[in-house]
Amino acid sequence: MCGIFGISGHANAAAMTHLGLYSLQHRGQESAGIVSTNVDGAVHGIRAMGLVSDKFTDAAMQELTGPVALGHTRYSTAGSSTIENAQPVMVRFRGGHIVLAHNGNLTNATEIRESLEDQGSIFSSTMDSEVLVHRLAKSRQLTPEAKVAEALEGVEGAYSLLVMIGSTLVAARDPYGWRPLVMGKAGDATVFASETCALDITGAQVVRDVKPGEIVAVETDGTLRTLERDPARDLHRCVFEYVYFARPDSRVFGGSVDRARRALGRRLAQEHPAPGADFVFSVPDSSNSAALGFSEESGLPLELALIRNHYVGRTFIQPTQSGRDAKVKVKFNAVREILQGKSVVMVDDSIVRGTTTRGLVSLIRAAGAREVHMRVSSPPITGPCYYGIDTPDKAQLIAANHTVDEIARKIGVDSLGYLSLEGMLGAVPGGPHGFCEACFSGRYPTKAPSVPTKLRLG
Ligand code: AMP
Repeated sequence: MCGIFGISGHANAAAMTHLGLYSLQHRGQESAGIVSTNVDGAVHGIRAMGLVSDKFTDAAMQELTGPVALGHTRYSTAGSSTIENAQPVMVRFRGGHIVLAHNGNLTNATEIRESLEDQGSIFSSTMDSEVLVHRLAKSRQLTPEAKVAEALEGVEGAYSLLVMIGSTLVAARDPYGWRPLVMGKAGDATVFASETCALDITGAQVVRDVKPGEIVAVETDGTLRTLERDPARDLHRCVFEYVYFARPDSRVFGGSVDRARRALGRRLAQEHPAPGADFVFSVPDSSNSAALGFSEESGLPLELALIRNHYVGRTFIQPTQSGRDAKVKVKFNAVREILQGKSVVMVDDSIVRGTTTRGLVSLIRAAGAREVHMRVSSPPITGPCYYGIDTPDKAQLIAANHTVDEIARKIGVDSLGYLSLEGMLGAVPGGPHGFCEACFSGRYPTKAPSVPTKLRLG
């Protein structure tokens, strides 16, 4: 997954982008980048591995001048953690520069790339997004938005995009609306971001979502042009944005993530109550709001029984025994004074491989819990995501290969309850229709990518 931020018509465009990226750090910690453009077309950029807070020194930021900027945070994935794959992608073409930041996964990128390579194109990264840059450079359309529309013809899968061509900033969303993208105003400047929390930090006001299928072009004087493509298709907004990915202080797809997670927690308490338990606690931070909802609905008090080390990123835990134990302990610690002798409900938003969960349960038991009842605020994940969430392939997904009872035994809990698919879709804002729930239901709205290992994760 990735976070994207763009701004046009601001004297400190790069500094605003830097701020925005701080709020999008949870969407990607592998690399970050900011590129700015002057009105005369000169482009300056920084891309670096690591966190936003580490890489953009004051001296480096001084170089990023101009009224237009865009930035990107990229999610860490095994095997593709290279600077070549950092974004924004920046290339020079006959018309000047093209700069692009992408959130999502294109499902037919391999085919498009092969056909471009047949025509002589050379690629410098393994990212699916690079095919879009080539197509943009080839387009003979006259306006930036028409170039983007042409480049996206026949492109399948998920994309929320920000593109700078000259000093024009273009935002685009795939017709299914898989990934969020919101538009705002900071004074006279126009801002785009993956989540509203990135507008809040810059003082920008939300205007509206970029619509599924829409292309919005903005000039530095605030002139705005829109192109709408295929507005009538079904929506496939990613329900996992509400379950896990987005920040609870954000609104995505027009709904509050906090409200969504609390509703998921309340629904979970109705479907799988835990009578007789002493209290409920969350696996911080992503399940805090769901645990609050569970507590409100069940009447069980909410305790802070598990403390998370905030200096450890949102990294996926290694599936080896020794790696798992060590990493879980580095990231979490249990509060013995709270847990000793108690029957407890542990709420988490999802179980993926089950490795972290198993480590957590043994930590909770070692701290003295008498009974551990686990409640999960989403259904079992039974398939990979082809649209931008970093879920592993089926072989590694615990729920693709085991029943709920088997999972309960493997992770070592006394009882395990997952929210139902209907429960989840009924609880999220704007549900139950118009969401992609393929990783839970196996109902994939497109065919799977021909190359199963993802070229990139956005
Ligand atoms: P595990 O027990 O190893 O399956 O890990 C479960 C934990 O991973 C839960 O706390 C989730 O919040 C978290 N999680 C879910 N999806 C992802 C993801 N795509 N990347 C990183 N962590 C995730």
